[in-house]
Amino acid sequence: MDSCIFCKIVAKQIPAAVLYESDRVLAFPDVSPQAPTHLLIIPKAHFSHVGEIPEAELSVIQEMVGAARRLASEKGLSERGYRLVMNVNPEGGQTVFHVHMHLLAGQQMGPSLVG
Ligand code: 5GP
Ligand code: ZN
Repeated sequence: MDSCIFCKIVAKQIPAAVLYESDRVLAFPDVSPQAPTHLLIIPKAHFSHVGEIPEAELSVIQEMVGAARRLASEKGLSERGYRLVMNVNPEGGQTVFHVHMHLLAGQQMGPSLVG
C-alpha cells in the first residue's frame, strides 16, 4: 500500500527505531507515546484491520503476541504487567489502517478499557 504509513516504515522509507524484526513482524516505539513504554507491533504485510486478515494467515497474530511478550520480558515488564490493545475500525478507535498491536506499560493501567 503506497500511502500507508506503516508500510513505509516496513519499507524503511520512514524511520523507526526497530526493536524486533522477523520475516513477518516488526516492532517499534509509538511516535506519540501514551504510557512510559508504548510500542507498536505490526505484521509486515498490509492488512487494513484485523477483519481483513485471511483465516489462513491469522498465525501472524500469534507471532505478534510472541514478539510482544518477548519485548515485555526484555524490558523487565512481564512481572509488573502491561496491556496489549488492538483497535479495529473507527468505532474501535483505529486511526492507522494497517493492523497493529499496542504494547503499553510502565504505569498502573486504569480499570476502564473504553476511555
Ligand atoms: P490506532 O489509533 O490506529 O490504534 O494507533 C495508531 C498509532 O500509530 C497511534 O498511537 C499513533 O501515535 C501511531 N503513529 C502514527 N503515525 C506514526 C508514525 O509515523 N510512526 C510511529 N512510530 N507511530 C505512529
Ligand atoms: Zn500498510
